[in-house]
Amino acid sequence: MSATYTAAATLPEALAALASGARPVAGGTDLVVGARQGKAPLPDSLVAIHGLAELRGIAETGGGGLRIGALVSHADLVAHPAVRERYTALADASAIVGSHATRHVGTLGGNVMNASPAMETGGPLICFGAEAVLVSESGERRVAVADLLTGPGRTAARPDELLVAIELPAAAGGSCYARLEYRRQMEIAVVGATCAVTLEGARIGSARVAITALTPRIVRVPDAESALAGGDGGAGAVQAAGDAAAAAAQPISDVRASADYRRAMAAVIARRAVTAAIARARGSSDSVPIPASPALHGADRD
Ligand SMILES: Cc1cc2nc3c(=O)[nH]c(=O)nc-3n(C[C@H](O)[C@H](O)[C@H](O)COP(=O)(O)OP(=O)(O)OC[C@H]3O[C@@H](n4cnc5c(N)ncnc54)[C@H](O)[C@@H]3O)c2cc1C
Repeated sequence: MSATYTAAATLPEALAALASGARPVAGGTDLVVGARQGKAPLPDSLVAIHGLAELRGIAETGGGGLRIGALVSHADLVAHPAVRERYTALADASAIVGSHATRHVGTLGGNVMNASPAMETGGPLICFGAEAVLVSESGERRVAVADLLTGPGRTAARPDELLVAIELPAAAGGSCYARLEYRRQMEIAVVGATCAVTLEGARIGSARVAITALTPRIVRVPDAESALAGGDGGAGAVQAAGDAAAAAAQPISDVRASADYRRAMAAVIARRAVTAAIARARGSSDSVPIPASPALHGADRD
């Protein structure tokens, strides 16, 4: 039990609570569920932020991007047409978080600030060049999500800073987030991979690839990106990108998978994400999320 719990009615109230040492709770699906499972005790002081209207909503930005409030749920992300069409990998990621209940209560801000190396939205946000908008009593600052995530459960945000929104720059082309999972619901990634590509005619223009649950923090894989950029996006390039993803992995062994299995699957899942991203850039309308089974998807039959 927390010693003190307040529900903030305004943003200044929430920021004042953080400045005096309270931790924010949004949906509570990491913080409260984790405490119930004995992962970590609840903090002494909690401030609930679910009532802050400023942290809700998805809006177009002037530059053709999107501003997504920190309290936007995974269910709302999956349902949003602009997210599905322009930032499809993010829709893929939110679509496989937990269960229907988890997706309705769990927020994008909570997923990011929990900073699990296995969380779904990190890879897509990093590949899209997303920025976190952090606010405290001393003002606002922006940090690239790639720099915000500093390690397992750690971020570059100060304890007095609240994540109010994630901003995505304009995006073109196609993208996909894929994960290895032992079941479709109530699962976290054993291995995950994101790919976002643009096209220049029939060739790949730019490519971004990130790996999830394979390193202490979610990272891009430059060698996978250079294997794709400028090429024809054919089987050889896809294979090279998958091999680069496996080479960049520093997996751990735990109850869910051995390090060797994770490394082997890194190549498979990266190929699956790359194949679907290229297909989407070329106009295919794969389902969101892509089917879990490669046999159904047809992208990788290893
Ligand atoms: C059954 C179940 C299945 C799950 N499956 C998945 C899964 O498949 N993939 C996955 O990635 N996750 C999964 N999760 C984890 C969780 O649901 C998500 O990470 C969710 O997005 C967390 O959001 P929340 O609002 O509930 O976060 P909370 O629990 O409220 O907060 C999480 C952390 O972020 C901090 N925080 C929250 N909001 C802010 C903010 N605006 N500014 C600063 N700090 C903030 C909190 O202090 C806390 O440290 C699962 C959880 C459960 C219970």
